[in-house]
Amino acid sequence: MKKALLTALAASLLLACRAPEVKGVQAAAEALGGKDKILAVRTLTITGEGENPNLGQNVTPDAPLTVWKVTEFEQTIDLEKGRMRIEQVRTAQFPFALATTARQNMALDGDVAWNVNQDGTSTRLTEREAQDRRLQLLHHPVTILRAALDPTAKLSNSRKQGDRQLIDITTAKGDMLTLAIDTITRLPVSVSSTTDQPNLGDVLIETSFSQYEDFGGLKLPMRLTTKIDKWVQSDIRVSKNTVNGSAADLAAPAAVSAEAPAPADPPIEVTAEQVAPGIWWLAGSGNHRSVAFAFADHLTLFELPESEARAKAVIEKVHSLAFGKPLTEVIVSHHHFDHSAGLRLAVSEGLTIITQSGNVAFFKDLVARKHTLVPDELARNGAAPRIKIRPVDDELVLKDDAMELDLYHVKDNSHSDTLLMGWVPRDHILVQADLYDSGWLKYPWADNLKANVALRKLQVEKDVPIHGTIESYADVLKRMAEKQIEEKQERAGTRARP
Ligand SMILES: [Zn+2]
Ligand SMILES: [Zn+2]
Repeated sequence: MKKALLTALAASLLLACRAPEVKGVQAAAEALGGKDKILAVRTLTITGEGENPNLGQNVTPDAPLTVWKVTEFEQTIDLEKGRMRIEQVRTAQFPFALATTARQNMALDGDVAWNVNQDGTSTRLTEREAQDRRLQLLHHPVTILRAALDPTAKLSNSRKQGDRQLIDITTAKGDMLTLAIDTITRLPVSVSSTTDQPNLGDVLIETSFSQYEDFGGLKLPMRLTTKIDKWVQSDIRVSKNTVNGSAADLAAPAAVSAEAPAPADPPIEVTAEQVAPGIWWLAGSGNHRSVAFAFADHLTLFELPESEARAKAVIEKVHSLAFGKPLTEVIVSHHHFDHSAGLRLAVSEGLTIITQSGNVAFFKDLVARKHTLVPDELARNGAAPRIKIRPVDDELVLKDDAMELDLYHVKDNSHSDTLLMGWVPRDHILVQADLYDSGWLKYPWADNLKANVALRKLQVEKDVPIHGTIESYADVLKRMAEKQIEEKQERAGTRARP
């Protein structure tokens, strides 16, 4: 009797001084419809449409992001088995040289993440991508509260931020997220987690929930907006929430789970082809190239693209060519993330960055950012990064006894307004990025390329590109003209249809 009384007393004391984290999670669960309602959700299918802004691909570093319009969106989550599939169809709302409509199928089963390609084949992703997808699964009020209510989850660091209570949650799996709860309605307002973005480094990914509606006693948000750092990455307007519907089988196919996760650093091949005395075109795997120029006492690179790993391989290749001259500078054609991927490595190597003036502030920001989750070379070398930048406004002539390379700002280009192209007067060589690639499906910048060549009065003989293959300029003009005629005919054909 006495013991029972003591136990009851202890329980009530425990209740009275229950941690604010526990109280916060329980209040949020109550606001959503109650713990039992949340735990009864086995599958959830979210159907809707919206937008996917295109990170790191804006016309200038400060311009709004270009946007993929998401016309079909369906996210299915199996909460009991930790599985998820997102299927969506999106269409580019900006000039684009490849397929402007893409169907995506992104899946997760426990620790196995994979994409189903348009041809039906599957590609297993890296362990980090699987972790990111696990976190993504928890960016929903139902999934995060279910994880927070799990007795093995750790709740900590309750704090107030305006009209929100923030609670850190370490899931049973060890993943860390922060839940924000509205202090008035007690409904979850957002979930955030951190990850690495190769260009930006440590970034916060935050999904905000709004426009809650009632589904048989369970409140679910009708709008899900995900930001990476300050940029919106996905904004979905939900048309339908299906709880415990007949979800398709979300299990990883045996062939995918038997496969090892994709390596974090896939092998990169860099080839070197001499295109003129003192000029080497560095191609190889992938479709991002660099061009090396031998000046009298130093080497200059045009572009260090695609990834830090590729940038490293390109620099190694340049050193192996044994010019007996130091590499001192790199031209970064524009700020788009694939083209500026080697920026931080270049700074780490002490190279001077040559770029259009409009990129300078953004490049300084990229160099100053923290990369602690996945440290890159610049983060590892420890010293406070010092960026040496030589900005180009309209034109810059790099010239000595051995080489001349002229750089020009590409005018009136709808893909990038801070783009530089290169010109070698001795050999009539044009070095360009994103104006023309022999492998493109169409040529949205054909007229812009011709206009810029005419503006600078260049008698181009050879195109030595950052994407695609080396071609005579006559062939470039011919291919662009053929495509333009085809496109005109297609448009006319479409119009003629009833
Ligand atoms: Zn670009
Ligand atoms: Zn490009």
